Amino acid sequence: MKKILLSLGIAGFLFTSCTESSTDQAVPEKESSKSEFALAIHGGAGTIKKENMTPEQDAEYRAKLKESLDAGFAVLENGGSSLDAVIAAVKVMEDSPLFNAGKGAVFTNEGKNELDAAIMYGADRNAGAVAGITTVKNPITAARAVLENSPHVFMIGKGAEQFAAEQNLELVDPSYFFTQHRFEQLEKIKETEKTQLDHSALLELELEDPFFKDRKFGTVGAVALDKNGNIAAATSTGGMTNKRYGRVGDVPIIGAGTYADNETCAVSATGHGEFFIRTVVGHEIASIMRYGGKSLQEAADEVVMGQLVKIGGSGGIISIDKMGNIAMPFNSEGMYRGYRKAGEEAKTFIYKDDK
Ligand code: ASP
Repeated sequence: MKKILLSLGIAGFLFTSCTESSTDQAVPEKESSKSEFALAIHGGAGTIKKENMTPEQDAEYRAKLKESLDAGFAVLENGGSSLDAVIAAVKVMEDSPLFNAGKGAVFTNEGKNELDAAIMYGADRNAGAVAGITTVKNPITAARAVLENSPHVFMIGKGAEQFAAEQNLELVDPSYFFTQHRFEQLEKIKETEKTQLDHSALLELELEDPFFKDRKFGTVGAVALDKNGNIAAATSTGGMTNKRYGRVGDVPIIGAGTYADNETCAVSATGHGEFFIRTVVGHEIASIMRYGGKSLQEAADEVVMGQLVKIGGSGGIISIDKMGNIAMPFNSEGMYRGYRKAGEEAKTFIYKDDK
């Protein structure tokens, strides 16, 4: 609690000076169609093609995305903070087996579900993250507890779980996270590894076989702008199927998969985490805006369609600035995504050519 009170005090001071001094530089005029409040979400990027989805699956995903948008939007509409809005939106997707976060998370090589999550508040750049946790029903709530009620930013494994218990967060038996389809995904990958020892054959499978291509995607995230002009980002994931030896991806790494700063933008990423870490995706987008004077869309495109593609990193991001501009580029076949701005209807998209 101490941490949040202290930082809110600083935030009040900083935010006032930031808005006056750097609005114009951070958000170019051509994008200044101000929205009072707005929210964007994603449910993971990957090889998501229309021809591989049944109409029922398509409808199921869109309905869940809409439910998540509605949950976050209701918070914003009622004057709630962007932090509360991104939590509300992410929790809906964590509770759904459709996504690789919370219930429905992918399995590690050992057959466990190890979850990562992070949240960041743009007003004061306060942040909280957890990695490798196995017993917290909604990992994003653990990330928030780290942000609000600890002097730390990043807690892992058993310590993070102990902290979550002390914070009275809802705990579950690790078996809660089991889903049959994710388990089969792990079995199939391990089976193939046994027979295909050749690394290039495995790589080819990843590129060609939809089953393998989707093994690392399905992370969820949200970014929001509230009525007070503050932005926030939240991301939650099970990581990558068959991950080994304490592997942690980009999601809980502040600046990589999750980032927020009122002066520039809030970003939540999904994709092949190692590449997103190496590109420091969230902070890189913010830096291009801050130092390069580019718009949110330009900066996001430069990183996702340029820098990531160059090193072979597939995936995408959702992002928002304090004017309520939203950019959601991805370089994969599809990305479950959606947004809603004040005074507009909710819009959901899945495929590349969804308009
Ligand atoms: N970025 C996540 C990770 O590498 C995976 C994903 O986005 O689905 O852990």
